[in-house]
Amino acid sequence: MTQNNNRPYQKGAQKKPYHNSKGGTHKPNIRSQSNDKNGVDVRIGQNFPLTIKRLGINGEGIGYFKRKIVFVPGALPDEVAVVKVTDVQPKYIAAKVLKIREKSPNRVKPLDEYADEVGGFELEHMNYDAQLAFKKDVLVQSLEKFQPRGWSDYDLRDTIGMDNPYEYRNKAQFPVRKIGDQLSVGMYKRSSHDLVDLPVVHTQSPATMKVLRTVRELLDKLSVSIYNEDKNRGTVKTIVARVSHTTDEVQLTFVTNTDGFPGDKALIEAINSALPEVTGIFQNFNPGRVSLVWGEETIKLWGKDYIEETVMGKTFQLSPRAFMQLNHTQMSVVYEEALTALDLTHADKLVDAYAGVGTIGLSLADKVGEVRGMEIIPEAVDDANINAKINHITNAHYEVGTAEELFPKWQSEGWLADALVVDPPRTGLDTALRREILRTKPEKFVYISCNASTLARDLVDLTKAYKVDYIQSIDMFPQTARWEGVVKLTRRNN
Ligand code: SAH
Repeated sequence: MTQNNNRPYQKGAQKKPYHNSKGGTHKPNIRSQSNDKNGVDVRIGQNFPLTIKRLGINGEGIGYFKRKIVFVPGALPDEVAVVKVTDVQPKYIAAKVLKIREKSPNRVKPLDEYADEVGGFELEHMNYDAQLAFKKDVLVQSLEKFQPRGWSDYDLRDTIGMDNPYEYRNKAQFPVRKIGDQLSVGMYKRSSHDLVDLPVVHTQSPATMKVLRTVRELLDKLSVSIYNEDKNRGTVKTIVARVSHTTDEVQLTFVTNTDGFPGDKALIEAINSALPEVTGIFQNFNPGRVSLVWGEETIKLWGKDYIEETVMGKTFQLSPRAFMQLNHTQMSVVYEEALTALDLTHADKLVDAYAGVGTIGLSLADKVGEVRGMEIIPEAVDDANINAKINHITNAHYEVGTAEELFPKWQSEGWLADALVVDPPRTGLDTALRREILRTKPEKFVYISCNASTLARDLVDLTKAYKVDYIQSIDMFPQTARWEGVVKLTRRNN
């Protein structure tokens, strides 16, 4: 459910910050021409006008050139654009906009001027209402494709958006490199290793940006060793700043190539006087040219071990690696929606599947008899159990393991779930879990999904025993194409 790094217990974990998956297809193609079976003759570099029909699930414009599908990032439905072909594949053409001839009324000027260069801003050129409508449409496209039972009659509720669809990311995780004389802290251009220095990022919380930009100046001023990828030498690779929505405290982590950190004392002193909001400073050691951002070992250099975040009245302690949704405001909306949809009673036994640090189950623990949750990352499970203690919750327990193993195991041991909430990563539910759900049919069932496509696929199975009461889309990631939703399912009588 959150983007942009390799935190282990994260939905849709991606290897590089803000790299969008679509960009990966735009490789230079040695075939300059493709005559496919439909006889579409098109070359890389060729220009033509194109009418955009709709947006694809990654937010890119879709048009047809002689009936072959063309993907054009940055183009909007009903626009006519002159496009230039960047790739030709048997099944599709990729192209970029040269000129918009007829503009969509939904087109707006992106606040982030580099929005079309780096990933994470796929929809910033579209007004927010149109973005919300698009997110509902993504769901429709996925349901149309998989056609789960009764799909055309589902109650698909309008996407819940944000009052301010900017400044929502509570964590910034940006690589640091020296480019010539300039110290850059920012994001990579799509499918490249060119780092763009980003003084302002409108989707990030201003607190995280302030810390990153100030730390950048201090690194420069104190001539702290910066990682050089070509030579595989130097120290600081990535800076991570995470702000607590609840306390405004910021946790700062330096991911380093070396296990030593020359100059750290002076740096910490300078940070202490320039940034009183930073209450804990950490070093994560991740040597060498690796695609994962975080290494295994994290040590505290200074300050507090945790920042604290409040979620639905419960307190969660977050160490640098502990997972928390990136958008606190919308996360609360998702949990509230899940709570409403579950309609719990004090007798219920609730399963919190794909639990992370237990935010969902612990938020709901005082509404039910008992909570059990499972999660594959041991550190997250430790955090979940610690979070239960901090909040004096005695009826919740988390175990390490997969949902597909532990859910059937508990049932076979006679611990029968009355209520089930699943919050899987983008891959959706494992077949074995779907089978067990169909066999045991918990009465109350809510599916929180971050991928409309795997949700629609899973519903093909799940609707054998359940009907879909409604699907509530929630915009967790404004300005991006990412979809999130809560599905209320009710057991069928037949
Ligand atoms: N519910 C949490 C976390 C959701 S992210 C929250 O709202 O914050 C999805 C989680 O599922 C990740 O923490 C991931 O580590 C975990 N996961 C992935 N595959 C799993 C599986 N097969 N069984 C259980 N958990 C899994």
